[in-house]
Amino acid sequence: MTTAKTITPPKVTDKKMLIGGKWVDSVSGKTFETINPATGDTICRVAEGDRADMDLAVEAARRALESKPWATMSAAERGRVLYKLADLIEANLDELAALETLDNGKTISDSISLDLPGTVAVYRYYAGWADKIHGKTIPVNGPFTAHTRHEPVGVVGQIIPWNFPLEMQAWKWAPALACGCTVILKPAEQTPLTALRVAELAMEAGFPDGVVNVIPGYGPTAGAAIASHYGIDKVAFTGSTEVGKLIMKAAAETNLKRVTLELGGKSPNIIFADADIEAAARFAYDALFFNMGQCCCAGSRLFVEEPVYEQVMNIVTRRAKEQVIGDPFDQATTQGPQVSEEQFNTILGYIEAGRKEGARCVTGGSKLDRAGYFIEPTVFDNVTDDMTIARKEIFGPVLSVMKFSDVDEAIQRGNKTMYGLAAALWTRDINKANRVAAGLKAGTVWINCYDVVDPAVPFGGFKMSGMGRELGEYALTNYTEVKAVITALGR
Ligand code: NAP
Ligand code: MG
Repeated sequence: MTTAKTITPPKVTDKKMLIGGKWVDSVSGKTFETINPATGDTICRVAEGDRADMDLAVEAARRALESKPWATMSAAERGRVLYKLADLIEANLDELAALETLDNGKTISDSISLDLPGTVAVYRYYAGWADKIHGKTIPVNGPFTAHTRHEPVGVVGQIIPWNFPLEMQAWKWAPALACGCTVILKPAEQTPLTALRVAELAMEAGFPDGVVNVIPGYGPTAGAAIASHYGIDKVAFTGSTEVGKLIMKAAAETNLKRVTLELGGKSPNIIFADADIEAAARFAYDALFFNMGQCCCAGSRLFVEEPVYEQVMNIVTRRAKEQVIGDPFDQATTQGPQVSEEQFNTILGYIEAGRKEGARCVTGGSKLDRAGYFIEPTVFDNVTDDMTIARKEIFGPVLSVMKFSDVDEAIQRGNKTMYGLAAALWTRDINKANRVAAGLKAGTVWINCYDVVDPAVPFGGFKMSGMGRELGEYALTNYTEVKAVITALGR
């Protein structure tokens, strides 16, 4: 336990959007409200962007891309500005953590100890890359020399979800800016506040006008305006598979802008009988319930080998009962509200479906009788692979536990999903670990750990969990075009 200082909900005034270095109202004059999910109260109103605002942002981002100072800024200087932004976020850590907790509902202890440090680390990691992004010299046939240049892909549109607003912004902004692109971000309608505050800090850090732009608003309007805009060269999206398909379709029907998608998952977490069961079961709880179950890589299908099934269930249910659910600003709270009334109702619908289809609700299963969108940590057993709760990405505090009896069955059932974002396995047998890691179709496989995400390690999905990889060196390919330059040697 850390001796925690008290952080209270900040006072927030109405917000404008950032276009070309200026804070402006929307062209339509419309605004929308952002809600505190712990109470259901309105926090403030925010300028609501749409196509006309996107046109202005694209114009500003294009101008910034092609003119001084950004177009001629040295790569090392770009890195320096990114380091400065990381420093400013760190200097305002408590304020940003409070804003994130207010808008999203995640616990203040998580905002302070995980989201903020994770965000700063990603900006620093890519700041270091800025002057190390380069092509190759290639030996060729004939009297020629060839080299490649890794040039910025151009104006980038980025659409992010509400589950990790600051971190998702960092995953999108940091590699794009390191590569010399200019960006237009649409934060989720549920959580626009920290994105706008980071944009303010980016201006203070020294990004020239128009390099970063933020257009808050709704998906079908402001988001769709990114996907279908002829002036945007690349779109990066994180969210649902359903919307990911719309983004790809819109890109195909307009200018074939480059597309990367990070979509959800239904990740298997497999505990073998020879694992450190106490550790595996404790982590199995966090693998799903961290961030109120609102994680794309949540270990939502827990497979347990038969001999240790009861032992694992006991530990997982004990942990569910130990949770302190309530005000996310209270440092003792371990579980806050779901992000919105819509998600709250969707999750309760899945719990109902689990019961109807014959799964057994071992603990939880109800909403809390108070204001805000709180749901008890819920564990189902007797779950079969074809049940709704075993197939759909619930994105809430609902765990499905299933028994298995051998390695092949674990791999086969682990892969029985349209998704392929992450997977985990727990065993002390290195041969088994390698065999299962190779057999699971997922962008990340954790062995004897879960949710270990590092700025240097690629993250993304197989199958319908997406296309492309974020983080690490791999993300740089999303934000560069490779140009081959071939020069004739004197004749
Ligand atoms: P979503 O609709 O896919 O939202 C993600 C982002 O896309 C938001 O900024 C959203 O805008 C925007 N968007 C929505 N419709 C769009 C469109 N037609 N064109 C362009 N952008 C659009 O996800 P959600 O409704 O918030 O959550 C639904 C489910 O998605 C969750 O239950 C979960 O299964 C999944 N999800 C996955 C992740 C992930 O990390 N992979 C994150 C969040 C949700 P607005 O929301 O602002 O309108
Ligand atoms: Mg939505």
